[in-house]
Amino acid sequence: MSLSIEQVAGRYRGIRCNHIAQGLADLLRQAEANEVSYLAFAEALVVHEQQQRNQRRIALNRRKAGFPVDKRLSEFDYRHQTTITKRQITQLLDFRFIDERANLIFIGPPGVGKTHLAIGIGQEAIDAGYKVLFTSALGLVEKLELAEIKGELKQQITALQKFDLVIIDELGYLPMSRQARYNLFQLVNALYEYRSVIITTNKEFTAWGEFFQDDSVVVPIVDRLIHHSHIFIMGGESYRLRQKRQG
Ligand code: ADP
Ligand code: MG
Repeated sequence: MSLSIEQVAGRYRGIRCNHIAQGLADLLRQAEANEVSYLAFAEALVVHEQQQRNQRRIALNRRKAGFPVDKRLSEFDYRHQTTITKRQITQLLDFRFIDERANLIFIGPPGVGKTHLAIGIGQEAIDAGYKVLFTSALGLVEKLELAEIKGELKQQITALQKFDLVIIDELGYLPMSRQARYNLFQLVNALYEYRSVIITTNKEFTAWGEFFQDDSVVVPIVDRLIHHSHIFIMGGESYRLRQKRQG
């Protein structure tokens, strides 16, 4: 007794191979049209399931990343930049820095493309299968504060540790309470040599050091962030201003 395609698809669904179930009719048609071997067909089924699962996971990771806008590295105009080269950025895309738990730090004045590069690299990391979170420094501090008030700081940090790469945008001289700085320290400590962080900031770390000289919480944060990090100092005029002038 032979089953119908629908019935076979139902059995694949029963063992959670939903993509094979859904694509079965097409896969069969292709196999017949191309007269592929039984072995090639068996492989085509599993390849289809794996590819579809990967795509779904990547789409889900992209939603979870919380990028405020979609920026791609392909849209970045390196001619506008004199301090960083395309080669420097392209070199990062083997994602060894994530595997080695190194950090990237983009320092520069407003409008020079720090956030654009951070999002662009984050998007590429997601395509490569990594889990990424984008957060503004302010949003992060608020999130940690809320968790701390609820007595859930530890759980919140554990949740953040699940990402391979955490992008903290616009870390600067935020007016942070001592508690907020302490919470941030807890997070940086938890990510240190365990996950990668990308920071964008308009402040040089040397200036941070002076500013927080007597701060026993901030100095270790800065220390940990710059240890194992690639630092990109970005210069030039604001891209936004230039566009405005040309427009
Ligand atoms: P920053 O984070 O350094 O303040 P952004 O990354 O937000 O700057 O850049 C400001 C705007 O200008 C964004 O819309 C960004 O896409 C664009 N931009 C900045 N630099 C470049 C560049 N070199 N090529 C293309 N767009 C750029
Ligand atoms: Mg920015």
